Amino acid sequence: MDIDLLCDIEDSNSLLYKIYDIIRVVDPLSKTVTRHKDDGDLKVSLTCFDFWEKNIICDNCIALRAYNDNRIFIKFEFRKSDIFMITAVPYDLQDRRLVAELLMDVTHSLELNAQSGGDMSHLHRLIRQLNSRVLKDDLTQVFNRRYVADKLPVDLSFAAFKSKGLSVIMADIDHFKSVNDTYGHPIGDKVLARFAAILSGCLNRTEDWVARYGGEEFIVCLPGAGHDKAQEIAERMRTRVENESEWTSEETLKITASFGVCTVRPTMGTDMDSVISCADEQLYLAKQSGRNRVMGVSEPPKE
Ligand code: GH3
Ligand code: MG
Ligand code: MG
Repeated sequence: MDIDLLCDIEDSNSLLYKIYDIIRVVDPLSKTVTRHKDDGDLKVSLTCFDFWEKNIICDNCIALRAYNDNRIFIKFEFRKSDIFMITAVPYDLQDRRLVAELLMDVTHSLELNAQSGGDMSHLHRLIRQLNSRVLKDDLTQVFNRRYVADKLPVDLSFAAFKSKGLSVIMADIDHFKSVNDTYGHPIGDKVLARFAAILSGCLNRTEDWVARYGGEEFIVCLPGAGHDKAQEIAERMRTRVENESEWTSEETLKITASFGVCTVRPTMGTDMDSVISCADEQLYLAKQSGRNRVMGVSEPPKE
């Protein structure tokens, strides 16, 4: 892809419009579509995910990846019965980075489609699986560390854009090494999966997410949540873990976990690492002061 081609994005006679069916320019931080050309018409849509008939940002947002890594990403996505191949190309306009999304309707050109005899449902399932697989942890089925690196900076920027707070919870199973040592690794794996399910079960807003950050350490992101709300959710997680009676069908286990909460009022460019280490410090304090507890801090806004 010759990135200079993007200079022609304003010109509906350009080669770009002969190759692609839809071209739109996205600001992945605000999720707004600044220009959208479909059949030569300029359409204005407020959020990038409206086009996909969703009401929330796609988990596998390649515009975001293109923006963060400053390189091109490709994925497949469907809308009703149509399948699109999307190429996300980052480019800088004045001092701002935008992403051009080049959409090609491949519904009738996929070899798989010919083999399916027109039944698209398995193709849709395949695309859904492909899109979530790169972002999910195999063992626990919550998001993986790659998702954290992609999504947390964007949630921070979006919170700054909307002048809202954001809270992060770091959760870590207490004495997990001894679970492995006593009952074996396969039981340890089951405990991890159940732990992740308990954390996820404590969330009920679509914008909240859980990811496996390391071995038995998980991160929970609560965009828009103030400190009291985040403490309340972490406390709910702690008690559910403490009271859980069915970690595995083989053994009766007693498990507890510790939680570190950090609430920030991000400004543009708030560093994700500083928020994570802030929550990590609180987690460390929770461990130091006896485990099976929640410790938290609300950071003052940065100058
Ligand atoms: P603390 O209360 O201080 O957190 O103690 P801990 O024993 O939980 O912490 P430590 O960091 O000493 O041990 C973490 C253990 O997690 C060690 C490692 O073998 C285990 N672990 C990491 N990943 C996995 C996994 O995927 N499966 C299983 N079964 N164990 C894992
Ligand atoms: Mg631990
Ligand atoms: Mg740990």
